[in-house]
Amino acid sequence: MPASLYPVPRLAIVVPCYNEEEVFTFCQQELSALLASMVQDQKIKPDSFLLFVDDGSRDSTWAQIQTACGAQPHVQGLKLSRNEGHQSALLAGLAAAAPQADAVVSIDADLQDDIQAIPRMVSCYHAGYDVVYGVRESRQTDTWFKRTSAEGFYRLMAAMGVQQVFNHADFRLLSQRAVKGLLAYAERNAYIRGLVPLVGFPSTQVGYARGIRTAGESKYPLRKMLALAMEGITSLTITPLRLITALGLFICAFSLVAAIYVLIRKFTGHTAAGWPSIILSIFFMGGVQMLSLGILGEYIGKIYLETKKRPRFHVESFLCQEAPDDAIATLAKTE
Ligand code: UDP
Ligand code: MG
Repeated sequence: MPASLYPVPRLAIVVPCYNEEEVFTFCQQELSALLASMVQDQKIKPDSFLLFVDDGSRDSTWAQIQTACGAQPHVQGLKLSRNEGHQSALLAGLAAAAPQADAVVSIDADLQDDIQAIPRMVSCYHAGYDVVYGVRESRQTDTWFKRTSAEGFYRLMAAMGVQQVFNHADFRLLSQRAVKGLLAYAERNAYIRGLVPLVGFPSTQVGYARGIRTAGESKYPLRKMLALAMEGITSLTITPLRLITALGLFICAFSLVAAIYVLIRKFTGHTAAGWPSIILSIFFMGGVQMLSLGILGEYIGKIYLETKKRPRFHVESFLCQEAPDDAIATLAKTE
């Protein structure tokens, strides 16, 4: 083993939970066992901990988190005042955990991501990496639709010049300074997996096979997936706006050629009643203009929302043996 660049870390595992009563106990037990085994192997410090973020669940998730916090010192709980969405819940968890931890792993509550990748992520941290991306090498267990739409989205983002790790979602390890770097991005429209590469620092990847949800159903219906995709695109790239310009230029050039053609036809006495071509071009131009306005509107809407600087979340309770002041301060700043 090469000498570690970084000392053994106090590790935090942050788990956003929204209506996860069916998977919570299993998730908590599995992660606790993993934490204990990593402590035993001296990979992480004995005071490493789990932090469950309840994102305004309407089921018994928070009650279960409270019970676990009361019974086990290595479990912390953070309750948001309402459902703010996965990305905000994750940011809240990172803000609460980072001041207390040297490294933070984020993972979904359904444990679709292989928790055995976590010790490998920690080994990368020992080797000096600040950012370790969990990358799905196989997603055979996802439905055809989920797999195709997700992979199509990653390709679309790449085509628009967005730097994003292919097949990586929100399963990753971040060192404390990387989390601080991430939290410095104060935008409301946060698309974390697009922001992390912008933070920089030495980064690497670990591969794993994505499993099925242990229980319950996906909290990411198509509507939320599309909203996330829109967040990602509008938060990271203005390529769609440039495409409108390119399209406008193309149509102008095409119209010039068409105008010359029409004039030649007119002066050679061939003007025929061209109803279909007129109607088609009206529909076509109408469609292009509406689409362009829609894309412009998306960005203007984002500017509108950003200028309000509304809080991303409010903390209702923070269950922690002794919450350090800087954790509370960082949480307040991240709101
Ligand atoms: N989640 C959340 N708030 C939401 C929706 C989801 O905190 O509004 C959490 C959810 O509990 C889970 C993670 O985000 O831990 C990912 O959700 P899910 O596994 O349902 O997404 P999928 O794997 O189907 O994309
Ligand atoms: Mg899932």
